[in-house]
Amino acid sequence: QAKAAGRDAVCFFKSAMGAQARARFTLESELRHAIDAGELALFLQPQVDGERRLVAAEALVRWHHPRRGTMPPGVFIPLAEESGLIVALGDWVLRRACGLLAREDVARAGLRIAVNMSPRQFAQEDFVARVRRILADTGADPTRLLMEVTEGVMLDRLADTIAKMSELAALGIHFSIDDFGTGYSSLAYLKRLPIHELKIDKAFIQDAPGDPNDAALVDAILAVARHLNLRVVAEGVETEEQAAFLRARGHLLYQGYLFGSPLEAEGQIERWLAEGALRPAG
Ligand code: C2E
Ligand code: MG
Ligand code: MG
Ligand code: MG
Repeated sequence: QAKAAGRDAVCFFKSAMGAQARARFTLESELRHAIDAGELALFLQPQVDGERRLVAAEALVRWHHPRRGTMPPGVFIPLAEESGLIVALGDWVLRRACGLLAREDVARAGLRIAVNMSPRQFAQEDFVARVRRILADTGADPTRLLMEVTEGVMLDRLADTIAKMSELAALGIHFSIDDFGTGYSSLAYLKRLPIHELKIDKAFIQDAPGDPNDAALVDAILAVARHLNLRVVAEGVETEEQAAFLRARGHLLYQGYLFGSPLEAEGQIERWLAEGALRPAG
């Protein structure tokens, strides 16, 4: 009886929703299922130094949807964040990335892996314990793990976030501010957080060679990084012109289609390592 009432309630709920909301509802239950069904895939995109040597890779999740094909994270990460599924999804990504770090060939090469973290994950009370658990289970070296956070992670629950970041940083994990320059955070936050790296958003990189305003912003970000002694990654480097613009500005790391697109981690790592001296093609 209670079951029937529940079913009626669901029917009512569904018919009251618009078509768009229904589509979201469907996608959300499919995503819930996708994690256990093995439909998620870990892609890696290379980060290279000035000599095009591979030094790190960013982990980027993909969803091989059984009917819609491969879905980019822009479609399902926001949904995962709103529904709370991001916690399970984020654990899955972190566990996979740590599994790769623990591989003997990867460890020997000294490759670092960067993982995107959502504010919802940080907000979990047991967040630090979950990370410790994954590190212990996989045997990954925390000093080769990076966590990418956006400026948004700092805006809410600043004190709590700083406490958790500090605990993880004490394990050797490095923190990177993703899409730097697009958020609204005060530069004063940067000094209070245990961060090691800034990633300049691709929006600035792409027009910098021809647009004096973007060029000035890139220079300003590089100056901030120099003063705070932070490593810098330029993301979205697509052309030789952009790379040359950046190279003229000194020591930084490059990530973008010019050096390599995100590719399925499985198999790709072997290819990178087999190429020797960690030099990706390009
Ligand atoms: P992001 O962390 O800023 O990642 C960089 C995005 O730029 C990636 O898109 C990458 O494929 C793309 N990209 C790389 N090089 C170039 C380039 O040269 N030109 C252009 N135009 N784009 C480039 P992707 O893989 O679609 O990821 C989009 C966003 O989804 C990521 O932005 C990140 O915020 C989020 N995301 C991806 N994987 C995860 C994850 O495991 N967890 C969480 N929480 N978020 C994730
Ligand atoms: Mg990122
Ligand atoms: Mg980014
Ligand atoms: Mg982005």
